[in-house]
Amino acid sequence: MRARAVVDLAALRANVRALRARAPRAQLMAVVKADAYGHGAVPCARAARQAGAAWIGTATPEEALALRAAGDTGRMLCWLWTPGGPFREAVAADIDISVSGLWALEEVLAAVRAAGRPARVQLKIDTGLGRNGCTPADWEKLVAAAREAEEAGSLRVTGVWSHFACADEPGHPSIRAQLAVFRDAVAYAEAQGLDPEVRHLANSPATLTLPESHFDLVRTGVAMYGISPSPELGTSAELGLRPVMTLSASLASVKRVPAGHGVSYGHLYTTPAETTLALVPLGYADGIPRSASGTGQVLVAGKRRTVAGRVAMDQFVVDLGDDAAAVGDEAVLFGPGDRGEPTAEDWAEATGTIAYEVITRITGRVPRVYVGEEEGPGA
Ligand SMILES: *Cc1c(COP(=O)(O)O)cnc(C)c1O
Repeated sequence: MRARAVVDLAALRANVRALRARAPRAQLMAVVKADAYGHGAVPCARAARQAGAAWIGTATPEEALALRAAGDTGRMLCWLWTPGGPFREAVAADIDISVSGLWALEEVLAAVRAAGRPARVQLKIDTGLGRNGCTPADWEKLVAAAREAEEAGSLRVTGVWSHFACADEPGHPSIRAQLAVFRDAVAYAEAQGLDPEVRHLANSPATLTLPESHFDLVRTGVAMYGISPSPELGTSAELGLRPVMTLSASLASVKRVPAGHGVSYGHLYTTPAETTLALVPLGYADGIPRSASGTGQVLVAGKRRTVAGRVAMDQFVVDLGDDAAAVGDEAVLFGPGDRGEPTAEDWAEATGTIAYEVITRITGRVPRVYVGEEEGPGA
């Protein structure tokens, strides 16, 4: 196998349990959008359920419907809707639908008529992120319309929720402000007769740092995959989380070259002396950032090596000096760090991005290999 992303489902289950222990009074929603941040939505959702995730969260309805098609029958929330849905399919599949505005409520009601069954709706309030969600100014109208539809038996409002802007910067003044707006929005909805099962606001960083934001449910994504939401909160190891994905490849070439040999496109690297070059068969088509050229590190032949020259579409080179290696030997790009390999957090730092992007951008060209599966039905 040229390369592989090994996904350790036992680590994922342990992370879910660790996060549940951080929010003992709340339910946990396993966020598996974007193919579980690149880890594979179906096996990760199953493993999260096994570890006690009461909810699954996705961004797009297609992601939620794919999990239903794969056999997940538990509670599931989906939040990124556009006109046209598929709202009817979501109602039929018993998916909780996030509604941020009247247009979406109208589409849900049309879907309810088509599906012949009531919907489950969660109202989203924009408490300050400035992305999706109903503005506080429009909240009265949205709550009134939802309440009316609930009284007519068309839907049940199962949740009121919102999303943080800066939970990864503990102490940021927006955090207090968003909490206050959220409490007001919930109180208003309840005063109007809504009785949501779950009120929720916390993502991974808030789950880890802000107990007062836990309410009835925490929505954990990145931390469940064993990744720290931000260097400011500490490394994954410091947070008691274990990285789930290990990305590695088999060396495709190992050869001696003389001093002064240019390496990869543009010859940004030239061998300082006679040396051994090793070819790692992963490139930007696999999701390795081109910005890792000259900065990303890889464990090869027992040591960390920096990418020599440019990352190309399919491959990059490392300079082993006089160390021995053979074609087929393993190059580890990132993993838990146990063997001295870098972590996804290290790659984020080296390439000027966040670890969320490092794991999520690994493309479908890299096969996922699942280990640590637990016997049992999961969902
Ligand atoms: C992605 C997402 C999450 C999970 O965020 P993490 O920081 O990865 O835990 C939670 N809620 C919403 C609305 C999201 O889009």
